[in-house]
Amino acid sequence: MNNDIRCGHCGRKLAEGRYIHLTIKCPRCRAINHLKAESLTLERPRAPQPGESDGRQSDHSLAGRQASPG
Ligand SMILES: [Zn+2]
Repeated sequence: MNNDIRCGHCGRKLAEGRYIHLTIKCPRCRAINHLKAESLTLERPRAPQPGESDGRQSDHSLAGRQASPG
């Protein structure tokens, strides 16, 4: 799976392959292209864990508080 790296100015194909950060100068239009990978496995979407609890339990429920006879 090779991605063609093209100049953002003139569209000339500069390189081919994979990259994370790349700064390449176009030999045609002399434009400096700062390329950055769109999405890698560095930022993966947070998957819901099965054993994950919120840890927020309300023991003292003020709503269901009954008035003590007195
Ligand atoms: Zn160019």
